[in-house]
Amino acid sequence: MKTTAAVLRSAQEPLSLEELDIDELRPHEVLVRIVGSGICHTDLGMIATAEPDAAPIVLGHEGSGIVATVGQDVDSIEPGDHVVLSYNCCAECDNCARSLPMHCRDFVPLNLLGARLDGSSVLRSGGEQVRGHFFGQSSWATYAVANEQNCVRVARNLPLALLAPLGCGIQTGAGAVLNTLNPEAGSSIAIFGTGSVGLAALLGAVVAGCGTIIAVDIQPARLAKAADLGATHTINSAEENVVERIREITGGAGAQYSVDCIGLADVVRSALECLQSPGVCATVGFQGIPNEISFDQGHLLFGRSLIGVIEGDAIPQEFVPRMIDLYQAGKFPFTELVDTFAFGQINEAIEAVHQGKVTKAVLTFDESTPVNGVTGE
Ligand SMILES: [Zn+2]
Ligand SMILES: [Zn+2]
Repeated sequence: MKTTAAVLRSAQEPLSLEELDIDELRPHEVLVRIVGSGICHTDLGMIATAEPDAAPIVLGHEGSGIVATVGQDVDSIEPGDHVVLSYNCCAECDNCARSLPMHCRDFVPLNLLGARLDGSSVLRSGGEQVRGHFFGQSSWATYAVANEQNCVRVARNLPLALLAPLGCGIQTGAGAVLNTLNPEAGSSIAIFGTGSVGLAALLGAVVAGCGTIIAVDIQPARLAKAADLGATHTINSAEENVVERIREITGGAGAQYSVDCIGLADVVRSALECLQSPGVCATVGFQGIPNEISFDQGHLLFGRSLIGVIEGDAIPQEFVPRMIDLYQAGKFPFTELVDTFAFGQINEAIEAVHQGKVTKAVLTFDESTPVNGVTGE
């Protein structure tokens, strides 16, 4: 079996489209013909910083597609099924057993290292092993090997390519609000950073019925988009004192909830300090580790809490269908965040993400018409 994949051969280099060999599937693996695959900041972080022994690797972890074949022990997925691919988990450890797959004990090796747990990879270029299995998929490829436990089956009448980012970026933002914070209808929430994750969080806040939704960013165009999608207030934090402004908007009290989608010290601190008592701040942004942040304990003492969130605390098999139901009901217009690019334009798509020209880039693997008019020229 062959696949055409975008291969990262060394950090900060353009990806090269190469034909690779796919070895035999293991019993719980699933071969998927990819239809759509998003570009997420975790991919960009790998491209920026990959160590020499971490390459060559095929990235991509927001895939969607059609199941081609399945391993001999797969029983929940069949050839022909339409699937959204999400993060991988072992399905066996204590946290997986208690329905916390986002905290799988093997989350890092299963998702970030580009190999199976035994260090092997299903991908080869002639005699050379190529790292695959990134988030259990490596879906910047025409065919990808996923696993039974990270496939979410979806209905066949949906725009499959556009569903791809539900598996990571959209789930991360919307889940931080709907799963982690679960705000009451009418409550106040401040969202720091209005890229794809922040805008997905905003869509989650609209679904939850938050009465005051404050979007914070330093880019006017992003803030305008946030207002279009349901922010009741926007703050340009390069121009205004964000904590004071949030207090003003909330009648002096502060916000009941906040979401940090950036991970920079000043932003996390503001997201904590803008809370009322009690209040909860979910931190989702990631700037690499170590990332030491200091704040005054006084901001926590009065019933405030700061919680770290991975993958939106989402169980993909439950949360992806929930997001799709909301989308079909017109209550979760996540496709407004998406611009599509043909797979062959992957380097142009990555550049467009770097330049902030698009919110969520999704690669498509057929000649379908681009949405929202951006083709990545
Ligand atoms: Zn596990
Ligand atoms: Zn991601």
